[in-house]
Amino acid sequence: MTIAITPRPTIMEISLYTGGASSAAGKSNVVKLSSNENPFGPPDGSKEAVVRAVHEMHRYPPTDHAALRQAIADVHGLDAERIICGVGSDEIIHFLCQSYAGDGGEVIHTEHGFAMYRISALANGGTPVQVTERERVTDVDAILAACNDRTRLVFIANPNNPTGTMIGQAEIVRLADGIPPQAILVLDGAYAEYVEGFDAGAAMVEARENVVMTRTFSKIYGLGGLRVGWGYAPRAIIDVLNRVRGPFNLSTPALAAAEAAVRDTDFVARCRAENARCRDWMANALAELGVPSDTSTANFVLARFTSPEEANACDEHLVSEGILVRRVAGYNLPHCLRITVGDESACRRTVHAIAQFKAGTA
Ligand SMILES: *Cc1c(COP(=O)(O)O)cnc(C)c1O
Repeated sequence: MTIAITPRPTIMEISLYTGGASSAAGKSNVVKLSSNENPFGPPDGSKEAVVRAVHEMHRYPPTDHAALRQAIADVHGLDAERIICGVGSDEIIHFLCQSYAGDGGEVIHTEHGFAMYRISALANGGTPVQVTERERVTDVDAILAACNDRTRLVFIANPNNPTGTMIGQAEIVRLADGIPPQAILVLDGAYAEYVEGFDAGAAMVEARENVVMTRTFSKIYGLGGLRVGWGYAPRAIIDVLNRVRGPFNLSTPALAAAEAAVRDTDFVARCRAENARCRDWMANALAELGVPSDTSTANFVLARFTSPEEANACDEHLVSEGILVRRVAGYNLPHCLRITVGDESACRRTVHAIAQFKAGTA
């Protein structure tokens, strides 16, 4: 017998996800600005909750995540019954693609959209459909033009990664109104906490049947290493997603850390303010050096260089200085570098290194 094992055809179309670098050969005192992490780490309450949870590690975690869902509902003024928790928001994206995208169903994402939308669509037998943006901003008309009777999911991140740009409420409403009846609009709010007063689409989820919001504890809450995210969806969709969710998908320490984090609203407010201050300083300083960026609403800046060669050369210089940022050629932005907003000293170090680079090539 000849062995002839092959995976489902779409699996081999997946390019492996490349995460942000975390070390540079021969460098100590490395500053990691490549994965949009909170430079201040998680709130103290989350660390203490993990330490307490250590004593319960022989017990299975709760399967209904009731305490975390209630904490999220209390803090955000939501209905706990419509919240689902996942192993990062990546897992919520997977549940959506698993439940709705198979059998060639089309999954729309934008040209500079988050890599997981395409990966998850392909992993689940869906067909990713890439649409153009307008000058690095989500283009609602282009998305609506790409919709048809096979469209199952439309993913947009707002603010978007890696562009940092956002579209307004009226545009989101136009998008939700315009997609076909069998399609779901997914609003990825991974960076929502960085925008003061922004609900990331929660009110729209409550008012409609075709909008889902995803959120994460990996960014402003500083818990990327524990993997916790959540989704807010109409009841009928939550019921579907819970059928594919593993009963024990989140560990006890992760649940405890996330619950403490979401209740620490002062921590979030402090991080948001400090991020805005450092981000705006860095963006202005880079612009003065001839490195412009779009106005960012998130915790990173997409620095634009004059060519892909210049962006790569600047990245090499930054690495030689122990500063790790993200190349974004894989997001169709080869002339750009995505720089996470670090603490004040990291931002100063980065601007100083880019100034050196620019002076050397002037
Ligand atoms: C970082 C990020 C996420 C978060 O993913 P997790 O799985 O929750 O860590 C989701 N969407 C976008 C656009 C992101 O940049």
